Amino acid sequence: MNERYSRQVLFPGIGKEGQEKISKKHVLIIGAGALGSGNAEILTRAGVGRLTIVDRDYVEASNLQRQQLYTEEDVAEKLPKAAAAEKRLEAINSDVEINAIIGDATPELLEELAAGVDLMLDATDNFETRMAMNDVSQKYNIPWIYGACVGSYGMSFSIIPGKTPCLNCLLRTIPLQGMTCDTGGIISPAVQMVIAHQTAEALKMLVEDWDAVRQTFVSFDLWRNQYTSLKMSKAKFAGCLSCGEDRTYPYLDSENMTKTTVLCGRDTVQIRPSKSGKISLEQLAGQLSTLGYTVKGNPYLVSVEMGEERMVIFQDGRALIHGTKDLTHAKTVYQRILG
Ligand SMILES: [Zn+2]
Repeated sequence: MNERYSRQVLFPGIGKEGQEKISKKHVLIIGAGALGSGNAEILTRAGVGRLTIVDRDYVEASNLQRQQLYTEEDVAEKLPKAAAAEKRLEAINSDVEINAIIGDATPELLEELAAGVDLMLDATDNFETRMAMNDVSQKYNIPWIYGACVGSYGMSFSIIPGKTPCLNCLLRTIPLQGMTCDTGGIISPAVQMVIAHQTAEALKMLVEDWDAVRQTFVSFDLWRNQYTSLKMSKAKFAGCLSCGEDRTYPYLDSENMTKTTVLCGRDTVQIRPSKSGKISLEQLAGQLSTLGYTVKGNPYLVSVEMGEERMVIFQDGRALIHGTKDLTHAKTVYQRILG
């Protein structure tokens, strides 16, 4: 065994055999923000075989306080988080096959990515995507680890299809929807604590030590010094539409996916085009410059200043409109540029 993993191999819970298993596993991380950065770094250092990471955003200065994979250079270049993360993770451990996807984790994309994935980690900032991950987990029998944090508060729960309740079951007892989006700020230690819980659970699952997996819903508040662990064995609901007998996987129906969304806790609206397909960023940047707009860009996106707002357009035609929370106004801005 490689010297690189010697300390982890010495740990009795993992050992040589566990390390072999870790090196053959494929982990899918949805989101490359604060939780995604930390989870991806730890699993990359631990020597996971393959890591796929999906993110729809790009690096901004306000991310640097807690999103550990990114640097000031990434901010200056406006690199998409997935691209910046890939570069950094490959530098950390070249043994790991890193697959970065710049895009929205729609139900279609999640189902497409599910094949061959051993474990999924939740590092999203929105409820819709989490519920789609939950349905994918049940449909394709892939365990996943829920994680969320806001302020000094965080929580995590491990979901194993056929064994534990799913996230949809939990909603009957814990109001998780309210937790997903907040403008109240966040401190980095809360992020790190959730990452510690998620990655410890991930390692247990990757070495297939299922008995060691936490069975309680853990939550904490680092500022108020509170730590709770709730038993969830009775939370499994027979009529659950995601994991029950008559399941329909309601969150995989893309009709339910909104095309226009206000991004979590920000003055930013995301618009997804109704038709899929790649656009030529170079051509778009050229047209916009000719029209007199101030345009910046890189191989992944074009950023255009337009008075109060700034719009960033990705290759898949998806756009982020900064400076507004008004969906109708954002659509007008979008149509002015992309028709
Ligand atoms: Zn359920």
